[in-house]
Amino acid sequence: MSNVQASSKGTMPVVLLKEGSSETKGRDAQKNNIAASKIIAEIVHSSLGPRGMDKMLVDSLGDVTITNDGATILKEIDVQHPAAKMLVEISKTTDNEVGDGTTSAVVLAGALLENAETLIVQDVHPTVIVDGYRKAAKKAGLYLNEIAENVTADDSVVLNKVAKTAMQTKLVKKESDFLSGIIVKSVLAVSEKDDQKYKVDVDDIKVEKKAGGSIKDSVLIQGIVLDKEIVHGGMPKRTGGARIALINTALEISKTETDAKINISNPQQLKSFLDEENRMLKGMVDKVINSGANVVLCQKGIDDMAQHYLAKANVAAVRRIKESDLAKLAKATGARVVTNLDDLHENDLGRAEVVEERKIEEDRWVFVEGCMHPKSVTLLVRGGSQRVVDEVERSVHDAIMVVKDVMELPSVVAGGGAPEIYAATKIRNWAKSLEGREQLAAEQFADSLEVIPLTLAENAGMDPIDTLTSLRSRQLKGEKWSGIDVIKASIADMKSSDIIEPLAVKRQVVSAAAEAACMILRIDDVVATAKSPT
Ligand code: ADP
Repeated sequence: MSNVQASSKGTMPVVLLKEGSSETKGRDAQKNNIAASKIIAEIVHSSLGPRGMDKMLVDSLGDVTITNDGATILKEIDVQHPAAKMLVEISKTTDNEVGDGTTSAVVLAGALLENAETLIVQDVHPTVIVDGYRKAAKKAGLYLNEIAENVTADDSVVLNKVAKTAMQTKLVKKESDFLSGIIVKSVLAVSEKDDQKYKVDVDDIKVEKKAGGSIKDSVLIQGIVLDKEIVHGGMPKRTGGARIALINTALEISKTETDAKINISNPQQLKSFLDEENRMLKGMVDKVINSGANVVLCQKGIDDMAQHYLAKANVAAVRRIKESDLAKLAKATGARVVTNLDDLHENDLGRAEVVEERKIEEDRWVFVEGCMHPKSVTLLVRGGSQRVVDEVERSVHDAIMVVKDVMELPSVVAGGGAPEIYAATKIRNWAKSLEGREQLAAEQFADSLEVIPLTLAENAGMDPIDTLTSLRSRQLKGEKWSGIDVIKASIADMKSSDIIEPLAVKRQVVSAAAEAACMILRIDDVVATAKSPT
């Protein structure tokens, strides 16, 4: 477009935008946005479900990621188109909110936009479509609640099934039985009950990964693993009955802020200068020792001389620990993080059965284990190669999140496309009560929901249309748990096949996808300002 617009009187040109800016309006803008979003949905489409394919992503530095996790795929590809970016956003928010369903949300949003396009071509105004979609999304939420089944929040059998379903679609599926066991234990360990409701802070579960061994070598540690060594060779490598001091100040002489020059004119002066430094360091170490600590975990540095004094007193020390790890250590051991050494007393110390340095492949890591009230635990994830542990870590994150979802909202639905078919059938029925063109939009919403079972069937090599029609007829007969068992490539009762998912995930998928689709549909003008020359 021209960035020079005639004023209302038709005389003076008014410059609105920078030279080189562009604007796309009306139908063109909508078509363009929908096309870009469809491409994004198309990219993750083939990754949906247990038979979905993986993507190999190579970043600008040549680093390779292999994954089928929707959020990760979209995070890695550098999307430029503004509307497409919105789909990337919904996968991110879904990941943050509920941890799973990221691929589904994007695939669903793509279908909603594709179906909206057919209506736009038939001259249905986008505002009408948006209204219809919004109403249908609200209804879908209600139908999902209707189909959901309440469960006991801390029932580890159910939680295991949910974790396993989340991992069925990932590289780790063969190990999902084993992994779900330790994942459920870790979430239960950090969960807190308040007023009959569970609350889980997933940050209390530290996931540490190390390539080497096999996935089955992954372990749950009732405490914290630090990817650091004990600082001094003379310190004990294993301390039983650990009394732990957590300090976030340096065991070093701090440098002065201003430059100072000391003139030393004879060896005696030099000696007394160094002696004074040592005395100060010894004083610091004595404060730690006098508190009764036999392990000191420090966020900052520890001077060589201080290390020496600590080693002499048989105190093990680790330095440069991350602040977040120090907070986790405080939770796990019951210690208080101390800033001023003068404030360090016996009752500030945390306890653990053992603090030990162990060899993990070529590294040495410190394990703080057997904590009294481990409200913070570590999952040490292993796998044959770096790419495998990376993907295991992502899958473990998803599984931790779905277990948390069910503990916080103890309600589950079937997987395998069952709830989507149920909601779609109900929405079609309800749509008949709508007046005018909104009805068309609601019907398209129902069709869009069915993209999930359609894609699952397609990716499993089943005939999508046959599968869909027979699923619909089963649902109409009232078999609300009928879905696609993708592994067996047949229609089955999802409950007896143990394919269950958190209600929270399904609700988030529908609402996030609908929200993004509506937002994109309401845009009829895309103004892109020219980039400033750099
Ligand atoms: P998302 O990122 O959306 O979670 P996934 O690739 O993990 O994407 O696929 C999730 C879908 O796969 C869900 O609809 C879930 O119900 C379905 N699913 C998972 N395991 C099975 C299974 N064994 N049989 C059928 N469907 C399954």
